[in-house]
Amino acid sequence: MSGFNFDVITLFPKAFELINNLGVITKALDKNLINVNLHDLREYGEGSYRQVDDKPYGGGAGMVLKPEPIYKAYESIRKLPKSKTLLMTPQGKVLKQKDLARWSSLDQIIIICGQYEGFDERIRCLADEEISIGDYVLSGGEIPAISIINGLTRLLPGTLGDPESLVDESHNSSLLEYPHYTRPLIFKDMKVPEILVSGNHKEINSWRRQKSIERTLERRSDLISNENYKKSPESEWINKNFYQLINVQKGNDFHYYPDW
Ligand code: SAH
Repeated sequence: MSGFNFDVITLFPKAFELINNLGVITKALDKNLINVNLHDLREYGEGSYRQVDDKPYGGGAGMVLKPEPIYKAYESIRKLPKSKTLLMTPQGKVLKQKDLARWSSLDQIIIICGQYEGFDERIRCLADEEISIGDYVLSGGEIPAISIINGLTRLLPGTLGDPESLVDESHNSSLLEYPHYTRPLIFKDMKVPEILVSGNHKEINSWRRQKSIERTLERRSDLISNENYKKSPESEWINKNFYQLINVQKGNDFHYYPDW
């Protein structure tokens, strides 16, 4: 099969109908740039009730996905030469743009979605990587899986109309992207910065770079405090402005909640 293959093991295949309504991602599906193969865990359930979950040994709340159906579903999937298996879990490595870029040169990603209290520990060995989409807990792995499918598909050649839009965007270079404006020139007394209508591309680029750094310092100084930026051409400027910038108030007067 041509195109990038996502094989997803899930108890809720219908959750993936969202992919049929996701703009450029849906177009990528229509153009066969990606194939999303859903493997309904229920079909691999045990007995006449197709049981997929059971109570945890040792007691405690909730139900746990049984290992046999997940194994059977996994074994039914044809593995392509360049394939990786990802297990969705809030205990995994927190997903970064770099991970999506790294996986985009594969042929196939197999995604295992948990539900309820999670899955029997003995399925962990199926996974090449355990991935979390953030430090919070969702009810199932479907939304994390859709996030991965969406983020990775954007990176595949042919998905975005203009591949240039991948170059500057947030998290690509550990800087957040600069602010965007479109018409009208004045909206509710707010004017587009003059430099953007100056036609001077050199100046526009340097304004954007500056805004990108400012914005990263204001919102996500953790991204910029790494060693690379200490060596960057702007390092002196960053050091001088750092404390001033992180106190800037943003947007409609809302504050960023600090991490505890
Ligand atoms: N009791 C488990 C959480 C279960 S949540 C624990 O404390 O670790 C149910 C399922 O939702 C998980 O098995 C996982 O597949 C998915 N899930 C929930 N939050 C997630 C997150 N942040 N990232 C990735 N998957 C998540």
